[in-house]
Amino acid sequence: MSTQQNDFTKWYIDTIQKADLMDYTPVRGCIAFKPDGYEIWEHIQDEMNKRFKETGHRNAYFPMLIPESFFEKEKDHIEGFAPELPWVTEAAGEKLEERLALRPTSETMIGHLYSNWIKSYRDLPVLINQWANVFRWEKKTLPFIRTSEFLWQEGHTAHVDEEEARKETMQMLNIYKEVIEELLAIPVYDGEKTPSERFAGAVDTFSVEAMMKDGKAVQAGTSHYLGTKFAEAFDIKYLNKENKHQHAHTTSWGTSTRLIGSVIMVHGDEQGLVLPPRVAPTQVVLIPVGPWKKNPAIMEKLDELYAALKAKGIRVRLDDSDQSPGYKFNEWELKGVPVRVDLGPRDLENNQALIKVRDLADKESVELAVIVERIEEELKTMQTRLLETARAFRDQNSHLNVNSLEELKQHLADSTEKGSIPGWVLAGWCGDDACEENVKEETKFTTRNIPFNPPAEKATCINCGKESKHTVWFARSY
Ligand SMILES: [Zn+2]
Repeated sequence: MSTQQNDFTKWYIDTIQKADLMDYTPVRGCIAFKPDGYEIWEHIQDEMNKRFKETGHRNAYFPMLIPESFFEKEKDHIEGFAPELPWVTEAAGEKLEERLALRPTSETMIGHLYSNWIKSYRDLPVLINQWANVFRWEKKTLPFIRTSEFLWQEGHTAHVDEEEARKETMQMLNIYKEVIEELLAIPVYDGEKTPSERFAGAVDTFSVEAMMKDGKAVQAGTSHYLGTKFAEAFDIKYLNKENKHQHAHTTSWGTSTRLIGSVIMVHGDEQGLVLPPRVAPTQVVLIPVGPWKKNPAIMEKLDELYAALKAKGIRVRLDDSDQSPGYKFNEWELKGVPVRVDLGPRDLENNQALIKVRDLADKESVELAVIVERIEEELKTMQTRLLETARAFRDQNSHLNVNSLEELKQHLADSTEKGSIPGWVLAGWCGDDACEENVKEETKFTTRNIPFNPPAEKATCINCGKESKHTVWFARSY
């Protein structure tokens, strides 16, 4: 059995398979989401949809196949995505006149349609989100984190001017930050991407970045201000109040099923998954123990408790299978179920049950009379505790005293020697692409983002030592 310490990737793959979240398929890089994996996504969708709709957005759906000519209209966009596109070249036994790409993202199709839908300032803003699958033919894949087909949401909006579009870009980034922190208990740094890490075709890209337990970063969500680039490429124009034609300013923003992978990599432990209660498919599992089959009162009590929890809207399971209690404990622990309740004959005599919270070491006896309230409380406090624990871990592994490439190399050598994770490094950057590139080449540390609220300000560039323009997070990333 691989551990998080000796082989994090292997631990991750073993864990998600044993917890029954996904399966591989004969199509390379394309996974099946099993119900427990998919349900985590559904809880993310529910919360995102709630926030999107509160801020005036509506869902729509666009085709998966995109004509090749659409990609050629925006130069940066095609350059960015061309290497990863799968193509449909024939249908019904005949070669197609124009190749069709399986969408990697939908700016082009949506740009084409918005040019028909938007005629006047009265048609703006357009605030639309799509839930869909997208394709990026990846060479190296890792389930949920990087796959050739994945699920995501992509918001596409059009506005009268830059000010409004930039406001939208920030609003959506902020929604991502809130949802990821509050629902997934993952702390993130919000900030701006450097030009080399920008979305292909964007004027500015902003991201939220999360630290996994192996110290690598995951870009958990992005929000792009596209300026008038796509509007010019696709002719999205409107008549303003002065009866003049103007290009709309557009945005796009997305999060994907890599959030599922992130939850596992941030909270999981050697025993398996640890799921934040708000996204756990099963929040509470009830397990009869001892000679419970000879004692019908135990199942009666558990049925009663099951109904009471269900009535409170808690996702509860009752495991009355033939397996031994020890087997069941391991199984539900592996699946990351937040709260386990054991009830045996002696507990019942004392009007008590045992509660075990997934991320705490000890079990505790709780009076049956107050157990429902107690479980509700445990779910709430576990949700908060997971965020605090993840934040403490991230801060512990964020290094603020690395100021040169030599120091970064020394830091990496030290962590290898100590067997500790290298984590993230906050460093200055002069703004020169070449400096960023050199750090990447020498250390595989890439710029994650320029955080809006860095824990410190750095005065000199990590690579060239000149005055820094930005304070940047550097890290290895997925
Ligand atoms: Zn520099």
